[in-house]
Amino acid sequence: MARCRICRQKASIFIPHHRLPLCDEHFVSWFENYLRRTIQKFRMFSREARILVAVSGGKDSLVLWKALVKLGYAADGVFIDLGIEDFSFLSRRVVEDFAATLGRKLYVVSLQKELGFGIPALKRRTKKYCSLCGSIKRYFLNWATRKFHYEVLLTGHNLDDEASALLGNVINWSIKYLGRKYPVLPAHSGFPQKAKPLCRFTSFEIQEYAKRQKIKYIKESCPLSSEAKRLVFAEMMDQLEEQMPGTKLRFYLDYLRRAFPIFQEKVEDFLDHKLVTCARCGEPAISSPCFICRLKEEYQGA
Ligand code: SF4
Ligand code: ZN
Ligand code: ZN
Repeated sequence: MARCRICRQKASIFIPHHRLPLCDEHFVSWFENYLRRTIQKFRMFSREARILVAVSGGKDSLVLWKALVKLGYAADGVFIDLGIEDFSFLSRRVVEDFAATLGRKLYVVSLQKELGFGIPALKRRTKKYCSLCGSIKRYFLNWATRKFHYEVLLTGHNLDDEASALLGNVINWSIKYLGRKYPVLPAHSGFPQKAKPLCRFTSFEIQEYAKRQKIKYIKESCPLSSEAKRLVFAEMMDQLEEQMPGTKLRFYLDYLRRAFPIFQEKVEDFLDHKLVTCARCGEPAISSPCFICRLKEEYQGA
């Protein structure tokens, strides 16, 4: 193994995208500095902002939360309890313990309490439960950000997630997504400002940071997971990266620099719906009552 670029001691990691060999200590400081620089580069939020991090119990969101707190940001967490038996129970416990060691506030939103049912009840009635689950999570994350008076909602999406989702959007020419696919989205129409500060980090780098910071996270994936199309794009992206190292980062960053402004200009022409405010819950939606209020009604007593 090569020598650390900073201290010349034996390196413990090599970061291919940056051609950087580093020791444990300097990898951790590189990670945190690069995170700070990403936040500044994309003007994601100010040092004083009230930040809410969506945490699932997985490595990405816990790493994000920990690194932000180490950098001095006032970041609290929100966890959506999906009611998926052992998986939700264990994830919730991991997140609660983590919040306690960080010394930051954690909000738990339970679907059982807010909706009257969890994701398993959805699965019994529809094959589309995964896409509904995604929409439900997004709804309650927006809802919680507003309810608890935070300015910015952060998610732990990493470079692998962003590059594979981008590939999927390009293959399907989903212009309405391409025109909004940016690491920071300003608040609009009742939605809070959103940002993805890990967008320039690979899954590998995040995992190595978690290891060095001794972060305990949930390694299992959701037991209800069906083989999603997104996995196909992730595998395709991995193959491209293997054949042509650096493709992932270049594909994503060149998109942000060169293609995003073009799609952004046209995005309004491709939106299918105008946003309204749900008359029942007050959240922004494409119709009133919104899909959550309709689901509540439909599943009463289910
Ligand atoms: Fe929800 Fe599990 Fe499907 Fe993910 S895999 S969307 S957590 S049901
Ligand atoms: Zn070093
Ligand atoms: Zn509603």
